Amino acid sequence: MKNIMNFTKEELEKELVALGEKKFKATQVFEWIYKHGIYDFSKMGNISKQTKEVLINNFEFKWIKIEKVEEDKLTKKFLFTLYDGEHIEAVLMEHDYGLSVCVSSQVGCNMHCAFCESGRFGKKRDLEAYEIVEQIILIEKYIKSKINSIVIMGIGEPFDNYNELVRFIYIVNDNKGLNIGSRHITVSTCGIIPKIKDFSELPFQVNLAISLHASNDELRSRLMPVNKVYNLSDLMVAIRDYISKTSRRVTIEYVMLNMVNDNKENALELAGLLRGLNVYVNLIPYNETESEFKKSSKERIDSFYNVLKENGINVTVRKEFGGNISAACGQLRSKIESNKEEVIE
Ligand code: SAH
Repeated sequence: MKNIMNFTKEELEKELVALGEKKFKATQVFEWIYKHGIYDFSKMGNISKQTKEVLINNFEFKWIKIEKVEEDKLTKKFLFTLYDGEHIEAVLMEHDYGLSVCVSSQVGCNMHCAFCESGRFGKKRDLEAYEIVEQIILIEKYIKSKINSIVIMGIGEPFDNYNELVRFIYIVNDNKGLNIGSRHITVSTCGIIPKIKDFSELPFQVNLAISLHASNDELRSRLMPVNKVYNLSDLMVAIRDYISKTSRRVTIEYVMLNMVNDNKENALELAGLLRGLNVYVNLIPYNETESEFKKSSKERIDSFYNVLKENGINVTVRKEFGGNISAACGQLRSKIESNKEEVIE
């Protein structure tokens, strides 16, 4: 049995044609699932009995499950259990411009950024496309409302699970799928260069965010081991190429770690790296975890911000969400045992 929610519409067309069905049936099935929320082939009204049988004999639905929901004012954190007992988290945020969901792409993470909680135990496995899609579907059902935007910034490195990530984007972006506009979808990567290139060749306008976090190689390698494989100068070339190929603005994420990467010299060095590029910098106030790092003070963030501004760089400070329920950037985990400590801070 194949999992129906792991296929993009095009892939499903091929599957159905191979089973002797007409191509357009894939569109009908897609609409039943993603538009009408019907997860039972026998209840798909306009589909013939014969096609239903083909569907029932070849495809199945598999579900992840909401295990727990924690709420803060503008944030809800969802803990999900997967078919094999693993756990992931996703976060719903209420912005003034609408609802956004931050989804996980892997169980754990292998990137081992020194400041991030999600990678502390390494990667257990990649998520399949349906496990990412269902985070959205189950959250929409839970809140009885459509969400407006998606950020792939939860647990995991999306470009380390590239094929499933791309399937997920096709499914949510498809107008017969969840129909979320590509400009409302943002993928964040620690900088896996070959995938940045692949991503630039895809036919959709999804936003790309790069976790830079440092202004030179020495510092970046210390904070982000991935830099030893894909260093800063190569990454800057990849970003430049991505922008010229896609004509899209790239977001540069820069987490503010007290006295580590938040000095004036770092700001000047960063401005130098980014000068002339169509990017904007999103300064992320550090959410403290069990790591050795501390949050930069508001004053240090402000002066970093000002140096960038004075040097002509577009910059914003990320709004903080979910700190009270450990639902903020870099606080998500796939370990359920740690849940007890997560409730109270
Ligand atoms: N693997 C992806 C997604 C990670 S999470 C990536 O590296 O981009 C999204 C952002 O939160 C990344 O920029 C990540 O570096 C940052 N982050 C990680 N831990 C954090 C923390 N404790 N506080 C604030 N931001 C953090």
